Amino acid sequence: MQLNIGGLTAFTTIDFPGHLAAVVFLQGCAWRCPYCHNPHLLEVEDKGSDWEMLQDFLKERQGFLDGVVFSGGEPLLQSGLADAIVKVKEMGFNVALHTAGTNPRRLEKYLPMLDWVGLDIKTSFDKYAQLTGVKGSGDKVRESLKLLLESGIDYEVRTTVDPNFFTRDTVLELAEMLEETGVTHYALQQCRDVEGHQVKSPSLFNDRTLLAQLNSMFPGFTMRYS
Ligand code: SF4
Repeated sequence: MQLNIGGLTAFTTIDFPGHLAAVVFLQGCAWRCPYCHNPHLLEVEDKGSDWEMLQDFLKERQGFLDGVVFSGGEPLLQSGLADAIVKVKEMGFNVALHTAGTNPRRLEKYLPMLDWVGLDIKTSFDKYAQLTGVKGSGDKVRESLKLLLESGIDYEVRTTVDPNFFTRDTVLELAEMLEETGVTHYALQQCRDVEGHQVKSPSLFNDRTLLAQLNSMFPGFTMRYS
């Protein structure tokens, strides 16, 4: 099974709600968001598969961890992901996926195998190409969101607020669109610079009126650092 891993978090309580989980960062992403905080994961290194390493790592943690999160990069790009999900579940772990919704066809195929999905909604669908540099990317995410909501699987939709793309009004516009689409679990994430130090757009996150409004729109609303 071909699996190219770019990083591993051995233990987290926040990336897969309700679970003690490891996060597996898979390499590769076809998009180029300017605020990407994992730029080292965008290209896939030409090397052998990391599956055996992951399997050994998880064997040692059976009974301690109960979840595994596949993140990225964009994990849906990896051809070995489906087999990896099956094997990880066979080992007794629940499985979550973090995705930007780049590939609705693969997401649709994998949804029945997943226990939780974190879906990035980066901006309104008509502005996606401007952000990602990829024509048609907004249509793919729109379809991914629809599939996720129809699946009935537990999820969180999240938006990283880069001040170059968001104002107070555009945050609200996006939230209203998501509410109308049927999103109930939504998180706003503060954008940090690539080194992970400086928090951008602090004023939006100190706007109590805005946050109260968002809180009233979604039964599950969260605000966090990305
Ligand atoms: S989709 Fe995610 S991994 Fe890909 S460039 Fe954008 S932020 Fe980075």
